[in-house]
Amino acid sequence: MIDLHTHTNKSDGTDSPRELVNKAIAQGLTILGLTDHDTTSGWQEAAQTLRANLGLALGSEISCLTTDGISVHMLGLLFDGNHKGMQEMLEETRDGRMPRMRKMIEKMQMAGIDISIEDVENARPEGATLGRPHLADALVIKGIINSREEAFNGMLNNDSEFYVSHAAPTPAETIAMIRSAGGVAVIAHPFASLRGKTLTAQDFEGLVAAGLNGIEVDHRDQNPDERNMLRTIAKELDLVITGASDYHGNGKLNALAEFHTDPAQWERLESQADQRRVVWA
Ligand code: AMP
Ligand code: ZN
Ligand code: FE
Ligand code: FE
Repeated sequence: MIDLHTHTNKSDGTDSPRELVNKAIAQGLTILGLTDHDTTSGWQEAAQTLRANLGLALGSEISCLTTDGISVHMLGLLFDGNHKGMQEMLEETRDGRMPRMRKMIEKMQMAGIDISIEDVENARPEGATLGRPHLADALVIKGIINSREEAFNGMLNNDSEFYVSHAAPTPAETIAMIRSAGGVAVIAHPFASLRGKTLTAQDFEGLVAAGLNGIEVDHRDQNPDERNMLRTIAKELDLVITGASDYHGNGKLNALAEFHTDPAQWERLESQADQRRVVWA
C-alpha cells in the first residue's frame, strides 16, 4: 500500500515522525510519503526509524496562493532536502505564519474572544510549522470550542470573518522550485470545495507548463464527481494520478492509508524525479 501524503507534529499532525513510521510499518505500507506543511524537519527522525520493507518518500506539502488569492497545496516529493532555494522558500512561508496568526488573534480579540498568541504557542509542539489547527487546539483548551473539526466548520474556516491568509509563493513558482530541486510536484486535493474557493479545470494547463507531475485524485475531501473530473483532467494532460490519506494523527478523522496510490502510477511518478531518492532501511 502506498500513501503519499501524511503529517506529523512537525506541522499540524499529532504523531511524531517516529510514531508515524512505526504505524506505517505495522500496517504493512510499502511507501510512505512524509509531507509536513512547509518544512522538512521531520525527515531525519523518520529516516532513522526506518526498518523492514517500508520505503520513505520524503517531501513537504507547500502552501501556495494564486494571484487571485486562492489557497492551493502542492505536494513536493523526492526533492533534494539541501537545495538552498527550496529551503529558503519554505522558511519564508513559515516566517509569514506568525504575523498571520497574530492578525487572526487580533480579530478574535476584537470580537471579544478570550485567546492570545501565548495560548497558541502553548498548543503548538516545539518547532512545528504554525497553523490554524494549533489555534483550534488553543480554543479547545480554553473551552471555547470542542474540536478542530468544529473550528474548521465555523470560526477558522476560509470564509470566516477571522480568516487571514499568509504570504506564500504561487503554485507555478512552487512547482518550478520543486522540480529545480530534483523532485516531483503533485497538486494536493485541488477540488476540495468544502475548504473554500478552488482552481478550475482551465488552470491545470498552466501548472503543467510549470512542470506539474501529478494530481491527488482520491482524497476524502473530494466527492465522486470531483474525483471523476480530476481523473479526466489527469488523463487529458498525461499526469500521474495519486490517492492518499492526508493523515494527521488525532488531528483529523483521516485514517492512515484510507486512500492510496496505484503502484504503476507511483512507479511513473518516481521515475520523473532526477534521482532515485526513496529512502530504505
Ligand atoms: P493553515 O495552513 O494554517 O491555513 O491551516 C490549514 C490546515 O488545517 C490544513 O493543513 C488542514 O490539514 C487543516 N484542516 C483543515 N480542515 C480541518 C479540519 N476539519 N479538521 C482538522 N484540521 C483541518
Ligand atoms: Zn494539515
Ligand atoms: Fe492540504
Ligand atoms: Fe495535508
